[in-house]
Formats: sequence, C-alpha cells, structure tokens
Amino acid sequence: MEIRDAQYLISNAKVAQCPDVKAPEYAFIGRSNVGKSSLINMLCRRKGLAKTSQTPGKTLLINHFIINKGEWYLVDLPGYGYARRGQKQRDEIKRIIEDYVLERVQMINLFVLVDIRHDPQKIDLEFMEWLGEHQVPFSIVFTKADKIGPRVAESNVAAYKRILLRQWEELPPIFITSAEKGLGRDDLLSYIGELNRGYDEAKESEQEYEEKESNSSVSGI
Ligand code: GDP
Repeated sequence: MEIRDAQYLISNAKVAQCPDVKAPEYAFIGRSNVGKSSLINMLCRRKGLAKTSQTPGKTLLINHFIINKGEWYLVDLPGYGYARRGQKQRDEIKRIIEDYVLERVQMINLFVLVDIRHDPQKIDLEFMEWLGEHQVPFSIVFTKADKIGPRVAESNVAAYKRILLRQWEELPPIFITSAEKGLGRDDLLSYIGELNRGYDEAKESEQEYEEKESNSSVSGI
C-alpha cells in the first residue's frame, strides 16, 4: 500500500459529528509529545499535514484525513496524559477518546504510540488493558527509534513485551518507527493494506449473502 494523496478533511469534538465515511479508518493515539504528528506526516510524506490540525484549540478534537481520495481514512486523536492540562480538560479528552474508540464502527485498528526510550508507563499500560477489556483491535507503534540506536531499541522493546506478557496471553502487532528516518513506514503501510484487503473481502461476502437472501425471498421460498 502506498499513500499517493493525503488531505486534511475535518475536525470534530464529538464522535456523532464525525463524517459518515464508507471506508476503513485507522486512528493514532498516544501521550502528548510521543511523536504522533511527526509519524502521521512521515507516513503521508507531507510535512505540516498533522500540524495544521494542531493549532491551539484543535488539540482536543478528532481530526480526519482522507487518504488516496477515499480509499481509507487516517484519524488523529487527542493526546492523553498531558500533566499541564487541568482536570476538566483531561476528563474532556478521556470522554472524546472513549466515545470514539467504542462507538466508531469504521475504525479497523487503533495504533497506540509509545516513545521507545522510556520504561513502560502506567498510563499506556492501563489504556491498553482498557482496550483489551473492550475488545478494541490495536497495535503498538514505538516512536523515535533513531534517538537510541538499534541495539538499545531492540532491548527496550523486548523489555516492553515482557511486561505486556504479564497481562496478555498474546502480543498485539508491534512496529518500530522513526519519523526522522522514515523507519517502519513500509511495515505500517503494508499492515494497513492487508487490513484494507480483509475489510473489502468481508464487505464482498456480506453483499453476496444479502443478494442470496433477497433472491430466495423473491422466489417465494
Ligand atoms: P505529538 O505531540 O505526539 O504530535 O508529537 P510531535 O510529533 O509534535 O513530536 C514531539 C517532539 O518529538 C518534536 O520535537 C519532534 O520533532 C520530536 N520527534 C517526533 N518524532 C521523532 C523521531 O522519530 N525522531 C526524533 N529524533 N524526534 C522526533
């Protein structure tokens, strides 16, 4: 899968107001400063694309980007865990995230971004546990890999996996990225391509089933 075209579409404060799109959606989330805007820009090869939606006031919004003229949608969710925000704003962000993640039927996968340099943080682990409880499909995307070099990156990821395996029987898909170096771009995009194909196949068999159902009712059986 390659991104040939990426455009900012719209920002909304409520999931109910999000566009009624007919294609799969992939959302990106993580703590503030994890490198989410940089990763989105790197994937889309458009400097400033995600930043355009990051103007003050818009950081509390669900930002939609249209990819390849509607082949799929990329969603930039508000960053969580920013200590300097007041409690009211943090509650507001939590509500937006929870509503989006639980209600958005178009969302195929949530990419949870984690800074590869840090030890596993309680807030991220609790968030992933919550996703598991609600059976939300997610993957982990380690960011800023260029800041530490491949060996340390590998051992940090291994340590992270060990901690996850205390909670989980199976690990989610894991990606190692650097927005700076373009690392992990191909892997992430081919994963999205694979999920898109699965989505198309499921839709086709649903249509075939519906056609069969309507044919059998026409013949009066
Ligand atoms: P956001 O708040 O999650 O959207 O984070 P940003 O994308 O704005 O990144 C936060 C900071 O980390 C910025 O100073 C970025 O330049 C830096 N950053 C993000 N990704 C990378 C990366 O892959 N490598 C390096 N070296 N710095 C990065």
